[in-house]
Amino acid sequence: MEKKTIFSGMRPTGRLQLGNLLGALDNWIKLQDKYRCLFCVVDWHALTTAYEDPALLKENTYEMVIDWLAAGLDPEESIIFRQSDVKEHAELHLLLSMFTPLSWLERVPTYKDQLQQLKDKNLSTYGFLGYPLLMAADILLYRAEAVPVGEDQIPHIEITREIARRFNHLYQKPYFPEPETILNKVKVLPGIDGRKMSKSYGNTISMSDRPDEVRKKVRQMITDPGRVRKNDPGNPSVCTAFTFHGVFNAEEVASVEQVCRRGEIGCVECKKQLAERLVSYLEPIYERRQALQKEKNYIREILADGAKRASALAAENMAEIRELMNLGQL
Ligand code: ADP
Repeated sequence: MEKKTIFSGMRPTGRLQLGNLLGALDNWIKLQDKYRCLFCVVDWHALTTAYEDPALLKENTYEMVIDWLAAGLDPEESIIFRQSDVKEHAELHLLLSMFTPLSWLERVPTYKDQLQQLKDKNLSTYGFLGYPLLMAADILLYRAEAVPVGEDQIPHIEITREIARRFNHLYQKPYFPEPETILNKVKVLPGIDGRKMSKSYGNTISMSDRPDEVRKKVRQMITDPGRVRKNDPGNPSVCTAFTFHGVFNAEEVASVEQVCRRGEIGCVECKKQLAERLVSYLEPIYERRQALQKEKNYIREILADGAKRASALAAENMAEIRELMNLGQL
């Protein structure tokens, strides 16, 4: 039986952070032998916010693929490629734009939210409004049936489903599947300030942070604001450090909760324990990363091979899509 196809991507906007790892990448790794997987460095998506300063795009692309491999993605099993290497993504984006109402894009919650959060950038652009449409094109181009992402991406998958339905209706063929979202156990990881961890918010712990950096950031994490003295009873449900214990220290999380609620451990000590768990979690990833960093050619070959494999699938589907829209050979 043929394997189902899944697609997912990440923007090369800087070193990967733990939210990317736990929300998405960890799931990609688990799914890669069950599905036909396409994992894409979405550099055009990065340009929607970084258009004024694209200097680091190539460097970030290398670093991101290194992070993916260091975490356990297998380039034999998965197709790993760069969006801008497969031009059909742009062609399908254009074709879908013909019938996508502006109002669908304007009401996507991440659109207004990002405009609000990234006030220092001019994002009143055509490209930024079209971000979810480009993402829909990425997914639909491979007729992917599922998309493993963090919870923040659900509205984008929802609009992709709407666009698939509209295409199928207009051109009278159930051509595109309506893709499902696949969430990991960790749906949204908070940053050290308690908001969603995001490269855009400067509240991240990176996969490549060194132990001292990790310790420093864990010390800054928001804890229960109602706790003044270290033997006051704490409320773990409002504490970011506790959320991290749940993710990275699952064996001890129950006892951490107990001693916190009884005021038997201070936040400083609790964070020290957490920092050491994180440091040992990240150590093997860091070591693999160091080895890969010396292999730029190897990364280049992976991306070239991935682009070839993705292009073959894209070309085949694009020919059918053109035909359905009467754009094929005369
Ligand atoms: P960032 O916000 O750091 O720029 P991206 O928008 O490039 O990250 O997201 C890449 C992937 O990582 C998406 O699947 C997204 O849902 C996931 N992701 C990002 N941040 C988090 C988070 N804090 N918790 C869970 N998943 C996340």
